[in-house]
Amino acid sequence: IKKIGVLTSGGDSPGMNAGIRAVVRTCAFHNIECVGIVQGYQGMIRGEFIPMDARSVKGIINKGGTILKTARSKDFRTPEGRKKAYDNLKKEGVDALVVIGGDGSFTGAMVFSSEFDMPVMGIPGTIDNDIFGTTHTLGYDTALNTVVEVIDKIRDTASSHDRLFFIEVMGRDVGHIALNVGVAGGAEEILIPEENLGLDRLLESLHRSKNSGKSSSIVIVAEGDKIGKNVFELKDYVDEHMSEYEVRVSVLGHMQRGGSPSCFDRVLASRMGVKAVESLLEGKSNYMVGLLNDVMSLTPLDQAIKGQSKINLELLRVSDIMTT
Ligand code: ATP
Repeated sequence: IKKIGVLTSGGDSPGMNAGIRAVVRTCAFHNIECVGIVQGYQGMIRGEFIPMDARSVKGIINKGGTILKTARSKDFRTPEGRKKAYDNLKKEGVDALVVIGGDGSFTGAMVFSSEFDMPVMGIPGTIDNDIFGTTHTLGYDTALNTVVEVIDKIRDTASSHDRLFFIEVMGRDVGHIALNVGVAGGAEEILIPEENLGLDRLLESLHRSKNSGKSSSIVIVAEGDKIGKNVFELKDYVDEHMSEYEVRVSVLGHMQRGGSPSCFDRVLASRMGVKAVESLLEGKSNYMVGLLNDVMSLTPLDQAIKGQSKINLELLRVSDIMTT
């Protein structure tokens, strides 16, 4: 391998820049060339490559987002699009790829490397933590810290006004963010896609909270919570069934994906970048690098995107006990 291409794809997450930096610097360390590919697979199809040396990634480890930009590419889903991407990579002299992204990006990488002679290595970059073969994806820890900071702020105003807040956090299919920020932010209830706790239980615990003399209550709701009601419908339901609360709603949205990456995410990105490049140099392909038991490990891409749920439901019990 003489030249590695690196790209970020799918939704952005904090730590992607730190990951790009790590890939570029590991290439420089091993005296191989590196090119950045602009806007993920779309840039491969358009042939948008940027030569990257060690100095070209200075000052980005602390920056959110991705300097290479990211995109969702419809064309890459077609054989013609992928052929064009391959031809461009060959013309550029790229002979291996590091893909930083989520499950869709990994699926694309697998399809591509099954059709063409192009080794690929994945780095999991998504705040949702919905990838298997790693306890943490890049950006997840930062998102947790961002959300907890916001919950603390909402708590200040909630307790000043004796209010109940429903706070919607990201998580259409998985409740990692909701569950963890719920415990860390002292939420009364945490509603996640994996478990339907039921509306009766919600009312019961809100009553209990009120009767125990608490001045504010927070309920964390993942976007895809299994009760099947969004935060506004939950507010209406509680308004209908309880008079003792003044209810407010806060939808956190895209701010959860931004911001400077945490120390944890910067270190994780650095380790993942080194492991990804060195694994390619060892002749490996079609793996994702991940963190398991604090060790960098490789998981085949197909397993990384469809393993068993790794949600820690014990946290629901911990949360229950903490709200006593
Ligand atoms: P996030 O978790 O943030 O959504 P993601 O990587 O899952 O990130 P997707 O939009 O699902 O984001 O996928 C990124 C890109 O990967 C797609 O825009 C598409 O170009 C490519 N891709 C996804 N699935 C396939 C597929 N089956 N074949 C070819 N390319 C694919």
